[in-house]
Amino acid sequence: MFTEYRIDRSSRITWVCRNWDESTTRNGATRLTSASVIGRRLWDFVSGRDTREYLEALFHWSRGHDVPLHIAYRCDMPDEERYYRMSVCSTGPDEVGVSHRLLQRIAAPDPPQFSSHDGQESSARCSVCCRYKIGDTWVDPYRTGQHMRMSGPFTVCGECRNTALETIRLSLSADISKRQGPHSP
Ligand SMILES: [Zn+2]
Repeated sequence: MFTEYRIDRSSRITWVCRNWDESTTRNGATRLTSASVIGRRLWDFVSGRDTREYLEALFHWSRGHDVPLHIAYRCDMPDEERYYRMSVCSTGPDEVGVSHRLLQRIAAPDPPQFSSHDGQESSARCSVCCRYKIGDTWVDPYRTGQHMRMSGPFTVCGECRNTALETIRLSLSADISKRQGPHSP
């Protein structure tokens, strides 16, 4: 499964891929048709200020550099873990392209239950790795089997922030090498 969209400098969606409607329908997001998202700001569809700032940092970096950023993330379904790769790259002077590729699905034989009124309470959820913060620890309910109460805001955990910084650092090195060309030492 592969989807792609492009945003302008104000993070307004300017273009979506041809299979957009088919993909959103398959994922159950039937209201997010191409006609309804083009022209809207991406932030209308992103939960949590921290998640927005995280994405803004990636987009901002991509606008100034000529190499793509690749970020691994999870977006689980109730009965399976889903591993994706998001790629962000400049596609024009004022435009950034964002693509999402499904890499792996792992069916959960005994999936955790998610409820608004029952289960383990958490203080935050990471939008990138899908873990929940319980006390000082980030846990993966698909591993622990804990039933989760849907509480706490979306954020980005420290581990995912560090991974993104490391990704930017490596991409910066690649960009510098690219600009220097093959004849530089
Ligand atoms: Zn995380």
